[in-house]
Amino acid sequence: MTRPPIIREQISSGGVIFRKPDNGVEVVLVAMIGRRSWCLPKGLINRNETPQAAALREVREETGLTGEIIDRIGQISYWYSLQDDKVKIHKTVHFFLMKYLKGSTEDHDHEVDEARWFPIDEALDTLSYKSEKQIMQKAKGLIDKMEVQ
Ligand code: ATP
Repeated sequence: MTRPPIIREQISSGGVIFRKPDNGVEVVLVAMIGRRSWCLPKGLINRNETPQAAALREVREETGLTGEIIDRIGQISYWYSLQDDKVKIHKTVHFFLMKYLKGSTEDHDHEVDEARWFPIDEALDTLSYKSEKQIMQKAKGLIDKMEVQ
């Protein structure tokens, strides 16, 4: 008889970090080692850490960049399996909009193959997951709104 899967909850936090060169808006995506995908930087929230602090830390670790949080963008959730479907993980990820302050994408950590600045519309096309594209679209709306204020 097959056992029902063990269900686990995970909560991560991450960010859209942006800068504004003369011609538009640029954001950073990361390509993780061993995966054929471009994603937003994110990671698990540590015990006693706020989602905001985790987002700033994960962005700093995965991209090499320091940012400051401007706004909350929203959250996504998805399921994935481990150990031949014996364990099913339900994951929630909180995302924050961050203004770039300092640092270089050359200083990304070892889990990341590459961290790269993209024009925001190119980032929308490049992101691998639909839910992260939706987060980027919301981020674009928030940045546009800041410009008219
Ligand atoms: P974290 O960066 O939060 O520490 P992780 O690197 O351990 O997480 P995930 O990035 O959540 O793990 O990836 C676990 C599985 O979920 C992988 O198979 C990945 O392809 C898939 N996955 C990642 N992001 C999404 C998403 N937005 N939608 C659907 N599946 C996703």
